Amino acid sequence: MNRITQCMHGRGTVSGVMRHRHKPRSEVPGRYLAFSGMYRPVVFWNLTDRCNLLCTHCYSRSGPGCGTEGELSTGEALRLIDDLASMGVPLILFSGGEPLLRDDIWELARHARVRGIKIALSTNGTLITAEAAEEIRESGIEYVGISLDGATAETHDRFRGTPGAFARTTEAFARCRETGIRCGVRVTLTTENYGELEDIIDRAADLGASRFCLYWLVPSGRGSDAYGRLQVSGSQVTGALNLLYRRAKETDPLSMEFLTVDAPQDCIHLLASMERDGSPDLLEAGALVASLNGGCSAGTRVANIDPRGNVYPCQFARLQEFWIGNIRDRPFSSLWEDPENPVLRQFRKKPAAFLGRCGNCRHRELCGGGCRVRAYVAGGDFSAADPFCFIGDLEDDLML
Ligand code: SF4
Ligand code: SF4
Repeated sequence: MNRITQCMHGRGTVSGVMRHRHKPRSEVPGRYLAFSGMYRPVVFWNLTDRCNLLCTHCYSRSGPGCGTEGELSTGEALRLIDDLASMGVPLILFSGGEPLLRDDIWELARHARVRGIKIALSTNGTLITAEAAEEIRESGIEYVGISLDGATAETHDRFRGTPGAFARTTEAFARCRETGIRCGVRVTLTTENYGELEDIIDRAADLGASRFCLYWLVPSGRGSDAYGRLQVSGSQVTGALNLLYRRAKETDPLSMEFLTVDAPQDCIHLLASMERDGSPDLLEAGALVASLNGGCSAGTRVANIDPRGNVYPCQFARLQEFWIGNIRDRPFSSLWEDPENPVLRQFRKKPAAFLGRCGNCRHRELCGGGCRVRAYVAGGDFSAADPFCFIGDLEDDLML
């Protein structure tokens, strides 16, 4: 995760990180969580594959045709929460499919809160009625990330495969705001919505989003079927990063923060932009980025659990080759703390040796060689270069 706002406006963050580094993670304020102890991960838990929408880029191939077969039962889910609490997991992100389709979601959220785990929700927003917003608040869910893939109904509904989705999603922001729930926008940038990026940011600000989180497409699930058509080009990546940088500079950090996800190399663009600007926060930002120990958090600060209890290093790494184990065979805590697990060893080895241009790149210790899922899918090798890196072009432009 590339924390643009936190790096640009973050004076005092390094000292905060150091102050909270050795505290139990449940006591660490949210803004420092990403930088604290390595092996107590934030857990992205896909509660179900069921979904009321049918999005073009869905990494879990969710949709109305998916059933409940194999899903963890309520009892199994409650025991999993107990296990996560016992190992000090600070935050669970309920995702899907559409997590609000699980009847026991409020029970699970309350149980996690009682066990001292913070809960966030990742949703398409279409099911957030006034009653659901009230349940979100009462169950103690602290943050809701709502997907918005276009500034207009035409773009969003085409992407989400469902007419009317845009209207219901934008209403969800109003319901959350009225109920006092903090919410943010998640947008996956593709060739189809690239031209609307600035309008989507404006729309997010109008909707009262406190976060603007840009996801790059990863070849996973249906996202891999449409990857060639939808993945943005190098100049579009640079254009989008320049735009986010400018908007983050212009925006009060307390009203909305900007982030990008799934391209750890974005931090190189951010630091280069701050250097070009003569930013007084550059040194602090460099220290923050370096404290992440190699970019991507998969297998260290981030874990994924699918609806059937399978554990992976991150939600986009759901390939058989990256399967860590299943919580029905062995508790998550035991899987995660196994130093011999071959997948975790691979993801945790830092610095790692890379092939191709990542192998020769002077930034590899900061960005960790980009995204290993993209590298693996493109090069058939965990050590391959991340093909979605345009830092070389950027350096030519900036003459770094
Ligand atoms: S492996 Fe790729 S998709 Fe997964 S967390 Fe790392 S950068 Fe993101
Ligand atoms: S070429 Fe590889 S190591 Fe260099 S910045 Fe890009 S992803 Fe990172």
